[in-house]
Amino acid sequence: MLPDVNHLETDVLVLGTGGAGLAAAVAAREAGARVMVASKMGPDDPNCTVVGWGGITYATEAHADELFRQVVETGGFLNDQRLVEQFARQVPQRVAALTDLGVPLEVLDEADTRNRLGVTKIVGQGRTTGFGLTRPLRARAEALGTRFIDHLMISTLLVVQGAVVGAAGVDLRSGQFVTLSAGATIIATGGGACLWTRTDNPPGTTGDGIALAYEAGAELVDLECVSFTFPRSRFEELLHSGGRDPEPFLSAGGAHYFLGGIRIDERGRATVPGLYAAGEAAGGLFGAGRLGGSALADTIVFGAIAGENAAAFATSTPRPRWDATRTDQERARLEALLSGSVPAAEVTAGLRSLMWRKCGLTKAARSLEEAREEVAELESRRADLGASSVAGLREALECGFMLTLARLIITASLRREESRGAFWRLDAPEPDNARWVRNIVLRREQGEDCLEVHTPVMARLKEPSQPRIGPGCFDYLP
Ligand SMILES: Cc1cc2nc3c(=O)[nH]c(=O)nc-3n(C[C@H](O)[C@H](O)[C@H](O)COP(=O)(O)OP(=O)(O)OC[C@H]3O[C@@H](n4cnc5c(N)ncnc54)[C@H](O)[C@@H]3O)c2cc1C
Repeated sequence: MLPDVNHLETDVLVLGTGGAGLAAAVAAREAGARVMVASKMGPDDPNCTVVGWGGITYATEAHADELFRQVVETGGFLNDQRLVEQFARQVPQRVAALTDLGVPLEVLDEADTRNRLGVTKIVGQGRTTGFGLTRPLRARAEALGTRFIDHLMISTLLVVQGAVVGAAGVDLRSGQFVTLSAGATIIATGGGACLWTRTDNPPGTTGDGIALAYEAGAELVDLECVSFTFPRSRFEELLHSGGRDPEPFLSAGGAHYFLGGIRIDERGRATVPGLYAAGEAAGGLFGAGRLGGSALADTIVFGAIAGENAAAFATSTPRPRWDATRTDQERARLEALLSGSVPAAEVTAGLRSLMWRKCGLTKAARSLEEAREEVAELESRRADLGASSVAGLREALECGFMLTLARLIITASLRREESRGAFWRLDAPEPDNARWVRNIVLRREQGEDCLEVHTPVMARLKEPSQPRIGPGCFDYLP
C-alpha cells in the first residue's frame, strides 16, 4: 500500500527541471502565476541539459532571417514554420536574459574563426554550457517563490472533460501518492534516447512526458525523426547497405536526440486544453534535423513561451471539477505494480536491444515489421510488470512509457518510406520531396493509435530544397 494521498494545488505545474522546465517556471512565475515544478530526479542528478556542453545557437536580430532559413533547410522542410519564426525572433532576448542571470556565456560573432558563417553562436565557458545555465535558472525560480518537488515520479496526467487538470505520481523516497491540481500543466520532461541500448543521454531520458501526453489525448508529430550519432566516414556505407546485414554497424554510434514529440503551436500549447510542452519533449520546431546548439536554445525560448502562455491560461480560465475517481484508479494501478511478477529491468533490456537492432541506425521495412512484432510481444507482458520497492516504481513506469513510444516510433517509421535528415530507411535511402514533405501525426482515439499525414505549416519558405541526410545534428550551412 502507498501511504496517504498528498494533494497539492497550483496555477502552473511544470514537469521537469532541465532547461525547458526551469525557463518555463521562471517565465510563469514572472507572469504572476503560482508555480510548482516536479522532477523524478534529485537536484544534482544529471538530465540532458546538465550534460549538454557544445554551445547555444544564437542570432542577432539582423541575422534572424538567416537563422530561420538554416533551421528550415536543416529540418528538411518538415518544420512548423510558425515555431521557427518564434525561435529565430526570440533567441536574442531570451539569451540576453540568461546572461543577466549570470550564466557564463561567450559570444562568437560572425568574425570569429571558431564560428560558422551567417549566425552568431554562443558557447559556455569550458564545457559548462548546459550545467552553467541550470543553476542560475533554478536559483532565479526559487527566489521568485517557485515550489520544487524533487524525486516525484509523475505517472499520469489527469484529464477531466477533455482538459488536462493536473497530474499524479509517487514520491520515490517516501512512497506517498501525490496528486497535483493545476490550471495548466507544462511537459518539459525531455526526449527518450534511452529507448536504445546505445545512447549518449543520461539514464532516465525515457520519453515519459511524450507518452503521458499521448495517453491524455495529445497529438505527437514526427516521432520517427530521432537523431543518432554515427561516424561520418561510415555513413554512406550504412545508408546504401540496404539493411541486409546490420551487424557491422551496430557497434558504432548511438541515439542522441528526439526531433519529434508533442505537437505544439507557437504559444507552446499541445492539442489538449490545459496542456503545454517545451524543449526536447515537444516536436515540430526542428523537423527532420537540427543545427548543433539549437536544442539548448529551444529549451530557453520555448520554455519561456510555454511558461508565459500557461500562466495566462491558468489565471484566466475556470477549471473543470477535480475527479477523485480517476486519482483513486491511478493509486490502485501503482499499488498493483508493487505486486507485479515481471521484472521491468528484463523487459526494458529486451526493448532497448530490439530498438537498437531493428529500429535504430538500421531501419528497413523488414526489420521494422520484426520490431513491431517483438514490441507487441513485450507489451503483452505489460499488465504484469512489477517493482520490488517504491524506488523501483520509477523503472517500471519508465518501462511502460518506453513500450508506448517504441510502438509509435515503429508505426511512424514504417509509414515514412524515404530518408530525410536524421531519418534513414535503408530500403529507401533517397529523400522523396514529392511524397514526403509531410508530417506524421499520431493521436490516441478510443484506445486505438490513429495516424494521419499532414502538410507542414510553410508560412514563409514554400519551395522545399533537397534535404540533407546525416546524423540529424548538423553544422551550420554555408
Ligand atoms: C551528451 C549531450 C550533449 C549535448 N550537447 C548539446 C549542446 O552542446 N547544445 C545543444 O543545444 N544541445 C545539446 N544537447 C541536447 C540538449 O542538451 C537537450 O536536448 C536539452 O537539454 C533537453 O532539455 P529539456 O529541458 O527538454 O530536458 P532534460 O534536460 O532532459 O530534462 C528532463 C527533466 O524531466 C524530468 N522528468 C522526466 N520524466 C519525468 C517524470 N515521469 N516525472 C517527473 N519528472 C520527469 C527529469 O527528471 C528532468 O528533470 C546535448 C545532449 C546530450 C545528451
